[in-house]
Amino acid sequence: MKAGIASIRKELAGIYSNEEIESLIFLIFEKVKGYSRTQFLLDREENLTGEELLEMNQIVSRLKSHEPIQYILGDTEFFGLPFYSVPGVLIPRPETEELVQWIIQENKLAEPTVLDIGTGSGCIAVSLRKNILNSTVLACDISRICIETTRRNAELNRTDVTVFEFDILNGAPKVDFPELDIIVSNPPYIRETEKLLIEKNVLEYEPELALFVPDDEPLIFYTRIADFAQVHLNDGGSLYFEINEAFGKECVEMLRIKGFSEIKLKRDIHNKDRMIRSLLLKSGLIDR
Ligand code: GLN
Repeated sequence: MKAGIASIRKELAGIYSNEEIESLIFLIFEKVKGYSRTQFLLDREENLTGEELLEMNQIVSRLKSHEPIQYILGDTEFFGLPFYSVPGVLIPRPETEELVQWIIQENKLAEPTVLDIGTGSGCIAVSLRKNILNSTVLACDISRICIETTRRNAELNRTDVTVFEFDILNGAPKVDFPELDIIVSNPPYIRETEKLLIEKNVLEYEPELALFVPDDEPLIFYTRIADFAQVHLNDGGSLYFEINEAFGKECVEMLRIKGFSEIKLKRDIHNKDRMIRSLLLKSGLIDR
C-alpha cells in the first residue's frame, strides 16, 4: 500500500492540492480495499493484489482528467448520510448542508409537509425527511435521471420521499399534493458569464441544466418558485432558497415586493450570502 500511496501522490501532484490528494487517497482505499479510516492508517504494510492495483490505477487516471471523485466512486456523503452520485445529477455541496441545518433548526411543526423543487440527487429532501421525524416530504425535478436517483437515494436511506416530474418554468405539476408548510429550492443560479470562473471538474462533468441561468434572467427560478409558493404554501409557511452570493439583495427585494415576510438573508461558512428564508403570512397580504 505504501507504494500505492506514493504513486497516487506523484500522479495527482499539481492537479489537486496536497490536502485534496490526501483525502482522495483515503477514498480510493476505502473503495478498493473496503478500508475504514483506522484500517487505512494501520495497514500500510499490506500489499495490493493485481486486481486492486488495476482498480486504483483506473480511478487515478480518471481523477487526472478532472472527473469528480463522487462520479468515479458512484456515491458521496451529505449531512452524514450516503447518496448515490451519478453523471447528470449535481453533486451535493457542503453549503447546501447549511441550508438543511437551518430548516431543521427553525422548524417548529411536529408534522410538516415539505416540497423540494429541483431536487437533483434528493440530498435536501432525503436529509430533511430523515431529520424531521414525522415530516411528509415531496421532491420534484425536470430531469428523469434526477427523479430516478432521488428515488434510489430515499431507498438507500430507508425512507420515503414522494418524487415527481415537474418543470417549474413551464406549467403546473401534474400531481395533486397537500398544502405545504415548507418549500425549499437550490435552483440553478450561476450566470453564463460566470462560466469562466468555474472549475474544470464542474464545467466538464456536472449537468449544465442544474447549474446555469441566462445572464439577463438570474432570478428566473426564484421568481417562479415565489409565485408557486404564494399558491401552495400554508398561511405562515416558509420558503427557503440557496442563492448566488451576488444576488442576495435582489432576491430579498423580489420576495418583499411579492409580499413575503420575515425575510432573512444568511451567509455560509465562507461568509458569502448563500441562503434566504421568508414566510408567507396570508393575513398580511393586501387584497388587490
Ligand atoms: N453551488 C454550486 C456551485 O457553485 C451551484 C449550485 C446551483 O447552481 N444551484 O457549483
